[in-house]
Amino acid sequence: MNPSKKMTFPILVGGEEVCDERTLLTKVESGLLMSGADAVRFIVIHCSATRCDRDYPVEQLLHDHKARGFRTIGYHFYIRRSGSVTRHRKLLEVGAHIRGLNRCSIGVCYEGGLDASGIPADTRTPEQKARLEELLWKLHKVFPKALIVGHRDLPGVEKACPCFPCDEYRNLFH
Ligand SMILES: [Zn+2]
Repeated sequence: MNPSKKMTFPILVGGEEVCDERTLLTKVESGLLMSGADAVRFIVIHCSATRCDRDYPVEQLLHDHKARGFRTIGYHFYIRRSGSVTRHRKLLEVGAHIRGLNRCSIGVCYEGGLDASGIPADTRTPEQKARLEELLWKLHKVFPKALIVGHRDLPGVEKACPCFPCDEYRNLFH
């Protein structure tokens, strides 16, 4: 069963109301917009590359991304270990999470990705898995043509991020 078939617009995606996929163009106070829903080719999953036994709150993420010169958090969505989801960019706002592909992708990051000794590992909590899947179903509804991939699945990426195989989602949605 495909839950996105049962969903009807308008839907709330992390607090942003989407009337339908054609009315996504919105004004943003600053920052760049992608040209439209068709521009979104990838939904890219990331991890924060922080240890699973340590807190990496939104405030710290914001601080770290600002220190890297970003206007705000580079990901569109951030999912804490508790399962709480925050949105940091409008859906069509160009993010800062994947070099060369920011104008055609949505970035989703979960807190974690390293085990207690700092080794890359799938540290998703049951809450994170549930919220991530829910969010992906919604994004798939809005951007049915976009591929769901892990950061490391993209060409030229040498990182372990997001530290788990994202095929489970690819098979779920395509
Ligand atoms: Zn990443």
